[in-house]
Amino acid sequence: METVGGAIFTGICIDVPCSIGFCVEQAAIAEMLKNSETKIERIVAVYEDGSILPPCGKCRELMSQLDVYNEHTVVAVGHEKEVTLKDLLPERWDRTWD
Ligand SMILES: [Zn+2]
Repeated sequence: METVGGAIFTGICIDVPCSIGFCVEQAAIAEMLKNSETKIERIVAVYEDGSILPPCGKCRELMSQLDVYNEHTVVAVGHEKEVTLKDLLPERWDRTWD
């Protein structure tokens, strides 16, 4: 993950039974927060076979809740495709639309 400040933060996924692990995005976000940053410029998650994995719903929501700027975060969803976080979460639940 790259922040708007240009810092790079990495993480690992711990995928174990019973859903007690966590996603790579969560680990990288924790490292970012330890460095007092909240704005994510770009994020990519690479699986062990080299494929690119889009963030799960929980990680999408976490990024959006950390900083409204992150609507603009560029998210790799494949080797040849990037979208914004807003594309992945078009209708925020915590805003009124009237
Ligand atoms: Zn996740």
